[in-house]
Amino acid sequence: MREILNKLYNTHDLEMDELVYLIENADTTIINDIKDHAKALTLSIYGNKIYIRALLEFSNYCKRNCMYCGLRNDNEEVDRFRLTKNQIIESIGKAYDFGYRSFVMQSGEDEFYTKDLLSDIIITLKENFKGIAITLSIGERSFEEYKEFKIAGADRFLLRHETADQKQYEKLHPDMSFEERKRCLYDLKALDYQVGAGFLVGLPNSNPTIMAKNLIFLKNLEPHMVGIGPLIIHKDTPLKNYKDGSVEDTLFYISLTRLFLPKAMIPVTTAVNTLDKKGLEKGIDSGGNVLMLNLSPQELKEKYELYKNRETKSVYDLEKVAERLENIGYQAYIKRGDHIDWSKEEEGK
Ligand code: SAM
Ligand code: SF4
Repeated sequence: MREILNKLYNTHDLEMDELVYLIENADTTIINDIKDHAKALTLSIYGNKIYIRALLEFSNYCKRNCMYCGLRNDNEEVDRFRLTKNQIIESIGKAYDFGYRSFVMQSGEDEFYTKDLLSDIIITLKENFKGIAITLSIGERSFEEYKEFKIAGADRFLLRHETADQKQYEKLHPDMSFEERKRCLYDLKALDYQVGAGFLVGLPNSNPTIMAKNLIFLKNLEPHMVGIGPLIIHKDTPLKNYKDGSVEDTLFYISLTRLFLPKAMIPVTTAVNTLDKKGLEKGIDSGGNVLMLNLSPQELKEKYELYKNRETKSVYDLEKVAERLENIGYQAYIKRGDHIDWSKEEEGK
């Protein structure tokens, strides 16, 4: 085991069989050692800044039927909403005036926002709010669409691969294929987006081999961001009789991901904060360095119910969040906050 750990700490890589052995045999002492190394590595690359993203959930319409997600098309209990171009500009403008420069626009897979409409929204945002970074999280689209959004000014794209095991992927995502998911992620990389992938912890029938596949998939893709969250059960989905993923396991995978991809931006996800009141502190202790705060009005947040009791903090609660960060020696950073290899950022802009 010591040999495997030393190899991981020194080369940031492991073979499949070594990784499976590590996942299967890591006891508390080893897990804590891995966490400490991950935290120190994060500090050595990004210092004590925690990068805050302002998240706007602009539509909860979705044509997909992911088995775990409350927004799935077949869920008739959802009160669906869409924001207009003006509503989007207004929400982002308000947070811009507050000081935020990094925005995530997230939705279900909603074709109402065509290539032209979404490009127009991005162009207008970029013209009106100088120096912002726009991250899209809108699911699968064609190469051409991704290209148009990039030309319009989108900087980053989040598309979790969810699981790197093809069989598990296809069971959980009816009418979708893992090949197509990979196509999207590699297209986004080819188009020079800062790309975010990531996976769910605690999916049905997961095992150490599948979890090792997730890390090796990430190592090959080399995304700039990795979102890792525990599955949280939603009562109106086919997974209603399963149990939530574990926060401890999620923290362990955050640490392993940090060690595999030292420079990645890794959020302490909303799902971690939902299941654990101290999730933020624990996530940072494990190697996380990003936090998403919500930009949507309360009544819309409730309609964007991926899972029960979603714990979202508002962008306007920054003071409280900053205080929690200061208590553990970190600082909230609300500017663009690019991946370290992206040198667009002008300090203090
Ligand atoms: N529709 C886009 C997509 O799927 O990429 C973006 C929005 S989707 C709601 C964002 C993420 O939510 C997904 O990548 C998935 O991992 C996560 N998610 C959905 N349902 C969840 C659940 N029940 N528990 C935890 N995470 C969930
Ligand atoms: Fe739609 Fe995304 Fe939910 Fe899947 S995870 S059902 S694509 S919103």
